[in-house]
Amino acid sequence: MTVAVLPASFDPITCGHVDIATRASRVFPRLVVAVYAMPKKNVLFSLDERLTMVRESLAGLPHIDVMPFDGLFVDFARRIGASVEVRGLRAVSDFEYEYQHAAANRQMLPGLEVVSLFPSTQYAFLSSSIVKEIAENGGDVSSMVPEPVARRLRERFGSVQPAVGG
Ligand code: ADP
Repeated sequence: MTVAVLPASFDPITCGHVDIATRASRVFPRLVVAVYAMPKKNVLFSLDERLTMVRESLAGLPHIDVMPFDGLFVDFARRIGASVEVRGLRAVSDFEYEYQHAAANRQMLPGLEVVSLFPSTQYAFLSSSIVKEIAENGGDVSSMVPEPVARRLRERFGSVQPAVGG
């Protein structure tokens, strides 16, 4: 049975990630959503919080496992017997990084296929950093993140400001 892995920091998980996980779960018989334990960048949420938010946000999807990982992605993929890495491709600007990432991982783990999926266009601009920036400044991110994430961001940064028209 083909095991596919979708790795990310998920700091926090956004509707873009959920969109990609949903598409991947339709294509692959088993999908492991892998939460990077210690990303190089500073994280807003602890590993436990990120794992909980990912589990809550993907609760409705079939045959998905959510697991933490650390170290090299290819070592994790080898350990769990995964042969496919799923990535999300938002725009041309993602391409160069994703291409290098795919080439490096395939060199380290021959046999690995890297599959890129395109999100729905409404999420093509979305990133965890944009969500955090808006939430930190009191903006409304409820259409950009699943409800469990929106709730934690409200707890962290306070309630949203009313939208200004125009
Ligand atoms: P990191 O690996 O630093 O955690 P991200 O969580 O932003 O970075 O991205 C992990 C993967 O999820 C990448 O393949 C990225 O392109 C994809 N991704 C992130 N946001 C979106 C989105 N809005 N739509 C589609 N794919 C996305």
